[in-house]
Amino acid sequence: MAVDASLDARIREWEERLAASATSHPPLTLTPAWWQERLLHWATNDPDFRVKLLRFVDVLPTLRSARSVADHVRQYFRDSAPGIVQTASGLASQPVFRPVLSRAVRSGVFSMAHRFIAGETPEVAVPALRDLARDGVGSTVDLLGEETLSDAEADAYLGRYTELLETLSANAGAISPQGEQWSAVPAANISIKFSALCAHLEPAAPEHVSETARKRLRPLMRLAMRQGAFINFDVEQYRYKELVYRTFADVITEGEFTDLPHVGIVVQAYLRDAVRDLYWLADLAKRRGAPFSVRLVKGAYWDEERIVAAQNSWPVPVFERKEETDASFERCTDALLAAWPHLRPAFGSHNPRSVAQAMVKARNAGRQIPDIEFQMLYGMAEGLRNAVAAAGYRTRVYVPVGRVIPGMAYLVRRLLENTSNQAWFNAGVTVSSIAQTPSEERARRAEPAFRNAPPAAFFEPEERERVGASLARARRGFGTTYSLLIPDRRVSDRPPSEVRCPAEPATIMGHVAQATPEDVDMAVTAAQEAFLEWREVPAYERAEILDRAADLVERSRFDLAATMVFESAKSWHEADGDVCEAIDYLRYYAAEGERLSEPRPMGDVPGEHNENFHEGRGVTAVIAPWNFPLAIITGMTVGALAGGNTAILKPAAQSPIIAYRLVEILRDAGVPNDAIQYLPGPGGEIGRALVEHNGVDNIAFTGSSAVGLNIIEAAAKTRPGQRNVKRVIAEMGGKNAIIIDDDADLDQAISGVLVSAFGYAGQKCSACSRLIIVGSAYDEALERLKNAVASLVVGSPDDPAAFVPPVISADARKKIMGYIDSGRSYSTVLVQTDISHLNSSESEEASYYVAPTVFTDVPLNSPLAQEEIFGPVLSVFHAADFEEALEIALNSTFALTGGVFSRNPRHIELARATFRTGNLYINRKITGAIVGRQPFGGLAMSGLGEKAGGPDYVRQFMQARVVSENTMRRGFAPEEGA
Ligand code: NAD
Repeated sequence: MAVDASLDARIREWEERLAASATSHPPLTLTPAWWQERLLHWATNDPDFRVKLLRFVDVLPTLRSARSVADHVRQYFRDSAPGIVQTASGLASQPVFRPVLSRAVRSGVFSMAHRFIAGETPEVAVPALRDLARDGVGSTVDLLGEETLSDAEADAYLGRYTELLETLSANAGAISPQGEQWSAVPAANISIKFSALCAHLEPAAPEHVSETARKRLRPLMRLAMRQGAFINFDVEQYRYKELVYRTFADVITEGEFTDLPHVGIVVQAYLRDAVRDLYWLADLAKRRGAPFSVRLVKGAYWDEERIVAAQNSWPVPVFERKEETDASFERCTDALLAAWPHLRPAFGSHNPRSVAQAMVKARNAGRQIPDIEFQMLYGMAEGLRNAVAAAGYRTRVYVPVGRVIPGMAYLVRRLLENTSNQAWFNAGVTVSSIAQTPSEERARRAEPAFRNAPPAAFFEPEERERVGASLARARRGFGTTYSLLIPDRRVSDRPPSEVRCPAEPATIMGHVAQATPEDVDMAVTAAQEAFLEWREVPAYERAEILDRAADLVERSRFDLAATMVFESAKSWHEADGDVCEAIDYLRYYAAEGERLSEPRPMGDVPGEHNENFHEGRGVTAVIAPWNFPLAIITGMTVGALAGGNTAILKPAAQSPIIAYRLVEILRDAGVPNDAIQYLPGPGGEIGRALVEHNGVDNIAFTGSSAVGLNIIEAAAKTRPGQRNVKRVIAEMGGKNAIIIDDDADLDQAISGVLVSAFGYAGQKCSACSRLIIVGSAYDEALERLKNAVASLVVGSPDDPAAFVPPVISADARKKIMGYIDSGRSYSTVLVQTDISHLNSSESEEASYYVAPTVFTDVPLNSPLAQEEIFGPVLSVFHAADFEEALEIALNSTFALTGGVFSRNPRHIELARATFRTGNLYINRKITGAIVGRQPFGGLAMSGLGEKAGGPDYVRQFMQARVVSENTMRRGFAPEEGA
């Protein structure tokens, strides 16, 4: 970006002037107590203390007693905190000091919050707005609050925004600064968070989200029009950006709002897309024929964006270096000014250089002072703000209003900024020498050996279009007949079974030939012969074949996902997750097979050479469930193949088509036909025949505990001709519990419970079916859960807006309904989602939908509390304390997954040590284990076998051999290792 020399000189001149005013006034100026400054200073210089302070501030408002405050102070700050904080932590251990300490800590943190928050209600905030106006500064008011998890909460926000608009309009005179620059703009100005008005922000369903959000936006915009007020749309995380832009565009182009100039939206300069966003908005304003405002900011979710991108293996959407964001802000300034008069610019920054360049460039572009606006945050950069206002520019402060408790998230964001070493005022306000072009070099992390497949980014329109095309293609393939895939032959002359779509049971998706016991014999014999060759293929070659298969799966990822959407009623996200997991298994196990096949020297004694190595055991029967119809069958199959075994796949009766596709792909990638065979058929007949066959060496089973235990028993019996003791790997059911502690973040906990209990209609072995809430959190958590469950979107899985799909089959529905019906007789239904619209056109039995249902007052030993229901049914328990909650959680014969939401370090430690489940999750959902990161599998009656997606898995399909050679001849031996 070339800035000409005279322009640059003027920018620097302004920058110096603004910087001088900014430093004449400390950046945090609302007469902070000295120790608050100290805390911030320590936090800036001590990363460990910074984390503790932020976490403590975050949890404090939920601590309901002095004892609990004192307890947390001690736990958070006992070690490695500054002296004064350690002293407080020492006092906390003595009961006599607890009340006074608790009061002091609370009032300290709350007063820190009040620097950034103008008041609990609009009414209370008015004097602060009036004071600003007196200083010539305007305001835009934002409401703080909890995350919206239900329609009831979205309605409550609408009510609060309405009240806010009314209060500001009623006080318009008092809160309006004087001056020509204010004459054309409304005094009442609010900033709304789109996420507050919509409970179900599904990036894959922008139409649905826009429609839902607009129902609440219209009355608000009508009110603003009547009162001549201004509404600005804030933009939050990147994954929701398109939803906000889309809804903004939809609503401002509706007939009644097309002329409305007093609306605005945000562009975040830290996004790599920022300039493109501005072009898009300029185009929107032109099409609409009336201008609107754009607030250009740097962006407030920088840490989160980087974490989310890293966790999903997505490209990082934000610039990673501050100078790059600063430079982007300047490029955006050019684009924004160029879009005049369609876009009206507002520049939100606390950086003197960023402000100066906007002033000078605006003037250079012919803009008058009233044409542009500057914005800053309440409680920050007041020196700069006053200098900008004194120069005659319209200067507006973004003022949060709301209760401090839910406002803590906002405070934490501000503290993050204030204690970041990248904050401009910490670096000292110097006249910048920022790079004029963003640096291309980025710190590259060393490439890890294995990388997870990134989930589809459904917030990108192109990804959604690809899914749409794949769904259409899958539909066109309905009615196909699928043959058996046994060596060298596709056998289709067997009586077929029909596969129906659970979401539309009248639709037959395909006909699948069913194997006979003779086919089992034929397949096993061929697999035995093939084993002798496959075992000898060098491990790296097998790995290459499996990597190639991963590439093929990746290439047809949306077609495979579409198959699962129809065959298994998986939502877009769930189907996509299944494909990613399958890709991960292929790549991870390929590498594992190689690693394990490598001979390892043992011992270090002269005159002998010992080698330990692994090789395949033989033929593996893969007996799979329907609920992860691609991922699990791929994992079991590839574990076997990577370890040098051959495999015969017996898919579940409900999901044979996706398994057929897998076998095709493996064969295309180069696995010999007789090393990988496909043998669909009834479990009790074909599954059983495989288990009992004397030529089968390994059985990889995933499914219910009843069938699994039966298989273990049957496999234990030795049959004539059998050459190997059968090895059974059996991953079985669960009855998983989540504990919500009394200090948990309920926004996080309730949304984690919703996903864990009702995602894929609760049909995951890892699903949450028991929720235990500790002590004082009970009432609020229950109320929020109730409203959230009532708002769940139940619907067909090909509709991306649907969160809860139908269950897999009529039988499954009947079984689940049995639990619900009998549960009513001994427990209380807290809430049941209304799904009457889904069942109305058909008879109940013809539809597989089950309404998500939550029970309370559930006896601890009742079927609801003890049996795996495998549907959208959740039982809630109330525990007096955390220890009792653990006891309830562990009262089960299963031990697959478990979860804890807590901010109490001692409780987290206790759970780590004693909540014995195969996979324990802390402060996150309990479903969605990722290969290589959360190796997965249960204890107790939940399973027998090493963790899937972990370093011990492939080993189970292999046998170890040791070869020892005496290397001493005639008294001398080569040196070991030479
Ligand atoms: P299921 O036990 O009914 O069937 C699993 C497989 O076993 C199917 O292929 C079926 O045809 C076959 N089968 C049935 N009877 C057989 C027999 N007598 N001999 C040999 N094979 C037989 O289970 P499902 O309904 O497909 O899957 C749901 C169950 O799977 C749930 O209990 C769930 O918890 C469990 N599951 C566990 C995990 C895990 O990793 N622990 C993962 C997914 C599912």
